[in-house]
Amino acid sequence: MLHPGMDSTLLRVTMEIFINDIPEEGLHETGQFAAAIFDLDPKDSIRVLGPVSYDVHIHAFEEIIAFYGQLRGAFQLQCGTCLEYVDYDADFSDWHSDLDIEEKQRSFVLEEVLREDFILNLPEHLRCDEIHEDRTCPKAALVEEVTESQDEEEPGGNPDAWKALDDL
Ligand SMILES: [Zn+2]
Repeated sequence: MLHPGMDSTLLRVTMEIFINDIPEEGLHETGQFAAAIFDLDPKDSIRVLGPVSYDVHIHAFEEIIAFYGQLRGAFQLQCGTCLEYVDYDADFSDWHSDLDIEEKQRSFVLEEVLREDFILNLPEHLRCDEIHEDRTCPKAALVEEVTESQDEEEPGGNPDAWKALDDL
C-alpha cells in the first residue's frame, strides 16, 4: 500500500474552501480523502482501493482558481482486452489544474476537483500488460489472431490509406 503511516485524523470526506479565505500567497493543503468521494459503480473500469492523498497548492486569481501539487492513490484498472482488474498505484507528482469561477461563486469543493483530476489522469483503455510489464494479457494472443485474419479477408484493402485518414 502507498500509505503505511496513514493518519486517520486527516481522512476527510468533504472540504469546502471559501475563495475569500485564500490568501494572496496561496493555500497549502495536505491530507487524504476517503475512497467514498469517487462514488463509482462496482462495474466501472476504475476501482479505488483506499483513501487518496493530496498535497496541493491553491491560488485564487480573478477568474480561476489554480491548483498544483501531488495526487496519490491506489487504484485498480480494468484491462480493455481481458476485462481483468490490475493494480495501479497513481502518483501524479506534477499535477496542475484550474477551475473557472462563476460570477457569484463564493466557494468550491476540493474533493470534486481532485476526484475529476484523478479520473482524467488515470490511463485509459490500456491493456493490462502495458500497466504491468511482467504480465501477459491472457487475451492478447486471441486479439492478435483476430486482427491478422481480418487483414487476410480484405486483400483489396490498403491499410496505409486508412492509417493516413486516421492521422488527418
Ligand atoms: Zn488484459
